[in-house]
Amino acid sequence: MTRENEQIKQNEAGMHYRSLNSFLREQFGEKVYKLALDGGFTCPTRDGSKGTGGCSFCAGGSGDFAIPVGDDVAEAIEMAKAVVADKGAKKFIAYFQSYTGTYAPIERLRNLYTETIRHPDIAAMSIGTRPDCLDDEVISLLADLNSEKPVWIELGLQTIHEQTAKAIRRGYPLEVYDDAVGRLRAAGIPVVVHMIIGLPGETPEMIRQTAAYIGRSGVQGIKFQLLHVLEGTKLAEEYRAGAFEVLSPAAYIRILEECIESIPPGMVVHRLTGDGAKRSLIAPKWSADKKRVLNDINRAFERDQIRQGSRL
Ligand code: SF4
Repeated sequence: MTRENEQIKQNEAGMHYRSLNSFLREQFGEKVYKLALDGGFTCPTRDGSKGTGGCSFCAGGSGDFAIPVGDDVAEAIEMAKAVVADKGAKKFIAYFQSYTGTYAPIERLRNLYTETIRHPDIAAMSIGTRPDCLDDEVISLLADLNSEKPVWIELGLQTIHEQTAKAIRRGYPLEVYDDAVGRLRAAGIPVVVHMIIGLPGETPEMIRQTAAYIGRSGVQGIKFQLLHVLEGTKLAEEYRAGAFEVLSPAAYIRILEECIESIPPGMVVHRLTGDGAKRSLIAPKWSADKKRVLNDINRAFERDQIRQGSRL
């Protein structure tokens, strides 16, 4: 579908953006739910190969609620299904969200992911990783898996601005992202990119530029994440030292609107804010009430008549 047709379809449906729910309904034709799994990985910014402290905002790979997967993959899937039993889904997306999901020996990755994707209740698999942990051997494995059932890769880019990337200790320059996306797309693997709104030193225009860049880079999905200051991170030290301020709800929503308007209409928006662990959240406190934040976002989108891609 062309960009214009996609925009017309969304406008006719009165949609402000292309949501993950609508995408999943189109793709699978039934309710599917994500199972949060932890493959027991680490990151190059944690194990000493590129650093030891991790990215400055990260309190542990966003896998707080993930079920550890040991030798018995089927057992871990059953445990993860039990966590979401009240959602009424029969098919699931295995989501390896903790740390860097391709940062392990290739045989370990092959065994873990092959067993997971062949589980009868698994409809698709999503793997969170970094663009500097995707060599050709890994991409070839992902392509093989993707030929059995849908597999997509989630990349934590966060920003396109090198100065910010260095400050948050991301550990790779932008061209590494471009290269990885090019090779993933050449192998037919869909890509979802994470970006953070509110990183220290970034203006609204810089943030919008990151969204627009992701939109132009040929990927299929985007996750917007409000900057959370979490206990135990380097960012928390900087925040307590007064080095930066967090965004207000109104400022966040305004920037989010500009980002939505700057990405192509067909791109799937996997997330509009974030799921910070409440117990370790230092700031902004308003983000802990996720239901209210999402209501405020949806009301603002309606008030401002936001249309995904309208700035393109
Ligand atoms: S943000 Fe991702 S790459 Fe960075 S330390 Fe956390 S899990 Fe590792």
